[in-house]
Amino acid sequence: MVILVADSPKHGSGEIYRLLRRRVLEGGLPPATKVNIQHLATELNTSATPVREALRQLQGDGLLLATSHKGYATTDVLDRAGVKSLFEFRLLIEPWAASVAATDSLRNPARELEREIKAFNPAMDSVRHAMIYHDSRFHGRILAASENSLVIDAYEKSHCHLHLFRMIGEHWDWRASLTQHQEIQSAIARADSTGAEEAMRSHLHQAYEGFMSELEPLAESKEKLREPSSPRIISKKS
Ligand SMILES: [Zn+2]
Repeated sequence: MVILVADSPKHGSGEIYRLLRRRVLEGGLPPATKVNIQHLATELNTSATPVREALRQLQGDGLLLATSHKGYATTDVLDRAGVKSLFEFRLLIEPWAASVAATDSLRNPARELEREIKAFNPAMDSVRHAMIYHDSRFHGRILAASENSLVIDAYEKSHCHLHLFRMIGEHWDWRASLTQHQEIQSAIARADSTGAEEAMRSHLHQAYEGFMSELEPLAESKEKLREPSSPRIISKKS
């Protein structure tokens, strides 16, 4: 675990936000723990105002909860029911988004997706942070290509990458994730909408198994992901 210590005085709230977010993600601020604004301000050699601003942002990410007396506490990490809800939500929108991204048009994001895959570098940072950065950008670009602001907004509000990768350590099989991303990217590049939809569905199922393997198992019947066929708008052609 990396413990970050403020090495220069007077951080801006953006910098404090990034520093504290990292602490929450890495367990330096453990789950379900009260956060003391004044202690943090003293430790970071700053005033309470930028710390409060950073904590408000972390609350927006779902990493902190407001408690009584204007205080904050870190949220719990996801349990199995939380992981299942998140993946059922993702299965509703992401296979569909991949299929609509795979069109022979200017908004086909295949080139950007290829760049994201090439830019992934786990040597630059911890696997956890490299994956949060890469995976959120990769999936975000596919969602953005749908040009459906309601879907994009709902996806961003889930903050799924922060919550999922907060659960894992450095042993995450990033090579498998990258291979699956390549499969999605190549189907999108071929404008193969069925292939892109299937590749995304398969990727989400495999990721779900990976995150669930981090947690204690429940009764098997409660674990199975419920998913509909992808939502589609059928245009009537006369
Ligand atoms: Zn992914």
